[in-house]
Amino acid sequence: MIEGIVIKSTGSWYNVRRIDTQEVVKCRIKGKFRLREKILTNPVAVGDTVTFDLESGHNGIINKIHDRKNYVARQSPRRLHEIHLLAANVDQTVLFSTIVDPKVKVGFIDRFLLMTEPHDIPTVIVFNKKDIYDDEAMKEYDYLKNIYVPIGYKTLLVSAITGEGLDELEILLKDKTTLIAGQSGVGKSTVVNALQPHLDLRTGDISDYSGKGQHTTTFAEMHPLSFGGSIIDTPGIKNLSFNNLEPMDVAHNFREFFQLSQNCRFGGSCSHINEPGCAVIEALKKETISTSRYQNYLKILDEIGDINYWERNE
Ligand code: GDP
Ligand code: ZN
Repeated sequence: MIEGIVIKSTGSWYNVRRIDTQEVVKCRIKGKFRLREKILTNPVAVGDTVTFDLESGHNGIINKIHDRKNYVARQSPRRLHEIHLLAANVDQTVLFSTIVDPKVKVGFIDRFLLMTEPHDIPTVIVFNKKDIYDDEAMKEYDYLKNIYVPIGYKTLLVSAITGEGLDELEILLKDKTTLIAGQSGVGKSTVVNALQPHLDLRTGDISDYSGKGQHTTTFAEMHPLSFGGSIIDTPGIKNLSFNNLEPMDVAHNFREFFQLSQNCRFGGSCSHINEPGCAVIEALKKETISTSRYQNYLKILDEIGDINYWERNE
């Protein structure tokens, strides 16, 4: 019986780093894990602590997955009602973004936060490419900061080119296990390579799709950091959908809406759309909650409502 941490998963094989020797062992899993939770597309995630036995010398068979402290899961891009584990046992997540080049997509930020919120995983939004922000871009950064900081998400302004803000980012990452993500082109790999040149994260276009429009899978991978801690890189997240969630799950995981819902007439079952005595709609009128967050919320509800309607009437 050997213990280790899963550092990469390719679907059929898992790279597991032994806790005793730090050696990386290629492992498979026993069939029975596959059946345990049907709605999971992958039973073992990067970050999982597992117990395995060595078979035929150097490969291993995982026979136990230890209880998870938490996990980050997304709706499977291919199977609407299944969820795909991106990582387990993380201390925090960092979402890389930028205001310009490519233009910031607040919809993606809110969707990412909806993904990390169910397990109360702290998320920091890192805005990269400060070196090319003009006055208008700086104003937009301040605007977004004033949306996210008051509801409890940290923001950080950095530049991989000038190095500004990277010290703060290093302090943030030190001794923690951090899931990192970001839409392609925001400079996530360049920032990580600036902090940790030996990691040599792939920069440039890592596309979700091959030229033929087929899905090519990109795998999450855990990398140790020289100053302590580790990052779990999750490439290839282009967009996030939530058909695995019920409308109330969405309502409860927009954290400032959930907090206000105790003042809604229908409390925790208010969907904040058109109910009388809704504290969220009231706050929206007073501009104490963000219009863009609310619009993104409605859009997500709309999407999952449409899918459910379509399936009921099929
Ligand atoms: P990723 O897809 O998020 O990993 O993005 P990359 O690291 O591949 O970077 C995408 C592009 O942005 C590349 O052309 C980088 O040179 C550029 N880039 C990355 N960081 C910065 C930055 O801080 N400032 C500027 N001006 N460009 C950057
Ligand atoms: Zn309400």
